[in-house]
Amino acid sequence: MFTKFPLGFFPTPLEKLTNLNKQFPKYTIYIKRDDQSGLATGGNKTRKLEYLIQDAINKNCDTIITAGAQQSNHCRQTAAACAKANFKCHLLLGGHEPETYTGNLLLSKQLGAIIHFTGENRKGEDIHTLFEKLQKENFKPYVIPYGGSNLLGALGFVNAVKELKEQLDKEKIKIDAIFFASSSGGTQAGLHLGKLLYKLNAKLYPIAIDKSELDGKPLNEVVFSLIKEGLQKLFLKDEVVLEDCNLIENYNAAGYGEITQNERYAIDTLAKSEGILLDPVYTGRAFYGMLDMLNTHKISENSSVLFWHTGGIPANFYYANKLI
Ligand SMILES: *Cc1c(COP(=O)(O)O)cnc(C)c1O
Repeated sequence: MFTKFPLGFFPTPLEKLTNLNKQFPKYTIYIKRDDQSGLATGGNKTRKLEYLIQDAINKNCDTIITAGAQQSNHCRQTAAACAKANFKCHLLLGGHEPETYTGNLLLSKQLGAIIHFTGENRKGEDIHTLFEKLQKENFKPYVIPYGGSNLLGALGFVNAVKELKEQLDKEKIKIDAIFFASSSGGTQAGLHLGKLLYKLNAKLYPIAIDKSELDGKPLNEVVFSLIKEGLQKLFLKDEVVLEDCNLIENYNAAGYGEITQNERYAIDTLAKSEGILLDPVYTGRAFYGMLDMLNTHKISENSSVLFWHTGGIPANFYYANKLI
């Protein structure tokens, strides 16, 4: 029913964190490597873009518009997807043009995106105006929402659960908890729907990265609406209530993109124990949340936990002076 345009390397690896496990002897810790999804340094948006780009092709569009922060991983992966699938790419990025392009912004530029700096409008408020302008110029624009988080994008993570379940079954691994960074809601909604569709019996721990509002709507409500829409489209009969969509709000007090000792601790811990890099904005924060919940015994002993690595590596370069 839903087709996708291949953009990444799937399945992404599933690994056991053997060295880190020694520091947490009461738990078994795994990692799902979507940072290795293959599209211009990888990340979780690749899964969403496979569905969104195919939809743009089906609708005979020639131009993609999306929006985000200057260090948006979503925008960088969208720029790469557009290069691969032959679309013009317009990115609306908050703030003003910097003197030096670095991190994701540098890569988006290298990948050929046309970049518009939108000042205070950081979450795609100007998309509509650009859409009309491009239409008048006889382009056929297609809008990918902030973070790629509509139902079509979320399907990428419904499918990701199928992929994970196959890996777990093959390796005879049982997972009790899945930790991940949640910010525009598509990953969370997709994982939730995927769990129901493929009967994966693991509890989701979505760590809130942002102050959890999108267009003035609390993020759990955004996720809830996406899930309700998904239940219908996928013909699922399961009951989902708003509380099932709550995020863990204990680790976002510093605000979006503010690096604290928590993120540094998480990045150092995984890098030095396993040689795996996290990013300072999303996965550093979420991984810290997981380690903290293990350290404080919020997860029952002898559980197997999985950290879903959602990518974001290029942002390390932008935040260099806050990281060491
Ligand atoms: C976008 C992003 C997330 C959050 O995914 P959402 O689907 O927007 O909630 C997590 N980690 C990284 C690295 C991201 O770029």
